[in-house]
Amino acid sequence: MEVTRIDYLKNFLQDKKQLITIVVHANPDGDAIGSALGLYAWMTDHGFSRVYVVAPNPYASFLHWMPGNDHVIVAEEDKNQALELISTAKLLICLDFNGMGRTGELEEHMKASMAAKIMIDHHPDPANDFDLVISDTGVSSTAELLYECLAGLSGQEAISLAVAQCLYAGIVTDTGSFSYGCNSPRTYEIVARLIEKGVDGAHIHRLIYSTYSEDRMRLLGFCLSDKLKVVKEADTAYISLSENELMRFNHREGDTEGIVNYALNIENIRLAALFTEKEDYVKVSLRSIGDLDANEFARSHFNGGGHKNAAGGKSFASLQDTLANFEILVKKESF
Ligand code: 5GP
Ligand code: MN
Repeated sequence: MEVTRIDYLKNFLQDKKQLITIVVHANPDGDAIGSALGLYAWMTDHGFSRVYVVAPNPYASFLHWMPGNDHVIVAEEDKNQALELISTAKLLICLDFNGMGRTGELEEHMKASMAAKIMIDHHPDPANDFDLVISDTGVSSTAELLYECLAGLSGQEAISLAVAQCLYAGIVTDTGSFSYGCNSPRTYEIVARLIEKGVDGAHIHRLIYSTYSEDRMRLLGFCLSDKLKVVKEADTAYISLSENELMRFNHREGDTEGIVNYALNIENIRLAALFTEKEDYVKVSLRSIGDLDANEFARSHFNGGGHKNAAGGKSFASLQDTLANFEILVKKESF
């Protein structure tokens, strides 16, 4: 990473006693939590004394093993503390999102905070209401970009095992275990450095991917056998889940994570979607292959965004209408 970005970052980190609040996006994934806890561990290692991590809402239990997880303040569960940490912070470090809108209910409080605001992210089109933007769409993950920042600040020797474990988790989850978004040799160089720190890749893989509850495994089976719909003429496959269906499988946060990828494993399918009915909207998850731009699709039709091949958004129509509209849309778009 070029020296100037590190110098700018260093300037914001002069005061080790300032109140620093690290914030991630709503529905935080492995890259968001891995980056936040990686940074938290690095700051703790380096003598910063007032560092907090705020997540807008709860996240999957397969991320709870990460060092520092017990310190994460979930705004939905502890609103007063979260808002206090945002409004009184001297520095807000925003990880894995490209605009305040991605923090859900925290958005207006983030915007109103007088703190200096830093974004470290890898989504396209970063917003400009930040004091420092470190954004690179060419990296696999925010965790990878954060590694460059931390190695630039402290030297890579000063990165601890705890930091390495969190960053590794971020890279593994955002690349689907090194299956997409990871064609750059640099990603593997960084992974090699993390493994040198003592990261046990096989163990972390099990913690993330092989700790399904029985309910979650059966929900996956139900999706594949009963809910998968293929729209052959549009090279599209999708799965939908109503609130009732989720209840049948005692749904927990994170149980639907990864399901959308199964639809993309069908031969010739280039667009996959998962529609999950929530209390007041339908969550839309999109995955695509090659040049098919899921980010653009999510922006145009579902008030969302993301990356070219992995994006998401919301629909405020009923689940049934959302699915009907989606079918019309994909049949109309000339993929
Ligand atoms: P997922 O489908 O796993 O929830 O999200 C995939 C990608 O889409 C992630 O990079 C995430 O940041 C992005 N994404 C998901 N939901 C939204 C949304 O509502 N708005 C925007 N802008 N991006 C989203
Ligand atoms: Mn990410």
